Amino acid sequence: MYSKKIIIRYSADIVEQPIIYELVKEYDLVFNILKARIFPRREGVIVLELTGTKENFDGGIRFLKERGLKVEPLSKSVCQNPDRCVHCGACTAFCPTGALHFDRETWKVQFDPERCNGCELCVTACAPRAMEINLF
Ligand code: SF4
Ligand code: SF4
Repeated sequence: MYSKKIIIRYSADIVEQPIIYELVKEYDLVFNILKARIFPRREGVIVLELTGTKENFDGGIRFLKERGLKVEPLSKSVCQNPDRCVHCGACTAFCPTGALHFDRETWKVQFDPERCNGCELCVTACAPRAMEINLF
């Protein structure tokens, strides 16, 4: 099974169409919504984890793009700014997935984008504002 967290951005003209329903039905994908901001007749954003065969996953992403949605990996919208991070470790106590963790050899805080679920708890935990998240 293949699994990846993605961000889907809707434009106002397609926000009311049942696209996620069609995606799941046509491509046999399991989805887990991590975050969503959808309003009638306005742009919308959904962060979700999609799971299925690699072939169906790729087909599903193609389908979304063909329907006019912008799709990108969640990992592209979350980053740890190396110029600001002082490796204090405060964020590691809040990060629920272990995406932010101490490297036992260097004792520096590492960020693993593949484990991040976009919860944004690290943003308020980080006084130097080193965690940059751009979901909405
Ligand atoms: S809280 Fe901020 S500054 Fe401290 S380790 Fe985490 S990202 Fe770096
Ligand atoms: S957004 Fe959430 S999961 Fe991702 S690094 Fe920050 S606290 Fe961890």
